[in-house]
Amino acid sequence: MLLKFIITKISFLPIFAPMEHSKIIIAIDGHSSTGKSSFAKQVAARLGYVYVDTGAMYRAVTYFAYTNGFIDNKGKINEEGLMKTLPANRIGFKLGPDGKSATWLNNACVEKQIRTLDISNKVSKISALPFVREYVDRILRRFGEDKGVVMDGRDIGTSVFPNAELKIFMTAAVEVRAQRRFKEIQDAGGKESFDDVLKNLKERDHIDQTRAVSPLRKADDAVLLDNSNMSIPEQFVWLDRILLERFGLQMK
Ligand code: C5P
Repeated sequence: MLLKFIITKISFLPIFAPMEHSKIIIAIDGHSSTGKSSFAKQVAARLGYVYVDTGAMYRAVTYFAYTNGFIDNKGKINEEGLMKTLPANRIGFKLGPDGKSATWLNNACVEKQIRTLDISNKVSKISALPFVREYVDRILRRFGEDKGVVMDGRDIGTSVFPNAELKIFMTAAVEVRAQRRFKEIQDAGGKESFDDVLKNLKERDHIDQTRAVSPLRKADDAVLLDNSNMSIPEQFVWLDRILLERFGLQMK
């Protein structure tokens, strides 16, 4: 009788005890303008994780290089000058004047400045420099020390966190990506043409995939998310299943 009582109690325990899940690192890599950042940001918020936009860090370095004359309008880079001056800079994220998380370069919020087509046209060349990647990687690895982080970029699952518990590789047809980006630019009052946006995406894909250091590629153990024909809610349904099945994690 007593034994039956104990067994009954024990078999009920897991149902009532709150499940503790250890935190994981989620690495989201992929082509430009696949919606990685918006997706990663929402995933982090729904899991209560930290979100790190690694592209913003490369953009901030590019902005620094451009405004200090280390890269000109033809894309010519003064590598020596940039290498000497870059380490003294502090790049990070905190709230911007509009109360939203933003990219800061030293004491200035540069969130808006780093998103222009001018910076987009230069960033892939700057981010291909090995010393720039080392500088950014050092900062990124610190963010991952306590896990519980969602990071999006080009080499997170292949190079920055090769042991990340979940790696996602996002892609979509280049015309679909250009159309999405073009709409964003138009909504923000930008004047760039669709053809310029498409050209920029193709160029960035090419440089990102062919550079010598940490080229963009799908890690062998990454799950592919081609969202050419997927809505954002559909992407969440897709991820919900993976998080639950593999890690027992549930997004809010
Ligand atoms: O993600 P986003 O488009 O803002 O990134 C800007 C550029 O930064 C990319 O085109 C790529 O050249 C570079 N980048 C990178 N490695 C990362 C993130 C971004 O080389 N992890």
